[in-house]
Amino acid sequence: MQVKLARELGFCFGVKKTLKLFDEMGSDSRGVKTLGTLVHNPQVVSELKARGVGVAYSVDEVDSGTLTITAHGAGPDAYAEAQRKGLRLLDTTCPLVTKVQKIAESLHKDGYQVVVYGDPNHQEVRGIVGWTENTALVSTDAKELVPRLKALTSSKKRVPKKLAVVSQTTQPAERFKSFIAELVSLLPDDFNEFHVHNTICQPTLDRQSAVVELANEVDVMVVVGGRDSANTKHLAELASEEGVPTYHIEWPEEIDPNWFKGAKVVGVTAGASTPDAVIEKVVKTIEAIEPEE
Ligand code: SF4
Repeated sequence: MQVKLARELGFCFGVKKTLKLFDEMGSDSRGVKTLGTLVHNPQVVSELKARGVGVAYSVDEVDSGTLTITAHGAGPDAYAEAQRKGLRLLDTTCPLVTKVQKIAESLHKDGYQVVVYGDPNHQEVRGIVGWTENTALVSTDAKELVPRLKALTSSKKRVPKKLAVVSQTTQPAERFKSFIAELVSLLPDDFNEFHVHNTICQPTLDRQSAVVELANEVDVMVVVGGRDSANTKHLAELASEEGVPTYHIEWPEEIDPNWFKGAKVVGVTAGASTPDAVIEKVVKTIEAIEPEE
């Protein structure tokens, strides 16, 4: 079977930087805790576990030693609590996430009601909300958001008349644009100022445009990466929206030759936290499958 790779795929620089740091630590990484999983990829997570790197889901769970803030970042409370407990902090927040945190913080200080376009349960989004003193609203659905904004403006409390939107770094660009267009059309009159900061990161944009391009050149798409990985899930959705049969896998062993019946060319892409070794194994597995009419 012929395989065609997306022109941009796999590790982004933010993930590379974090993993390089752990590689350089070598055996010193034993006992280090990460605040949430370091990256949303099962192979990387199990490799780190084998090296003795643990995961804590809140600062409360760590009483001593080193705590790592992952590439997804964290809110100010996590830093303050770690300092109060005397923990050694290793901050590997991706600079592009820090940029969103700073924008959200400064908008909040300037009196804007901040909205984060993203998944409220994602580590990165929870961190960004933290930088707005937990006042930001999170949504990917303008119709769902507008009643919450109306409730804010009709409450007795003094509320901002200015609205600003930032995005989680890994959201699909086209959907962000549609969300903004719909929000503008539904926006309550009370808001007399509306700012949009497109904070989707460049590596995500590059991977998204590459997957759309590739999906139009192949018969089947295989997207490799963690099922919890936001950017990988979006790559699979984008490929599928192009009308090509798309399979999202975590492990090469999941590949089923039946997926490729009648196909000549298979496209492969991978999320920003997928190791090269996994991508290579996926490619080799597909290449070894005999095309079947
Ligand atoms: S996906 Fe973007 S924001 Fe997230 S770690 Fe990679 S480069 Fe940074």
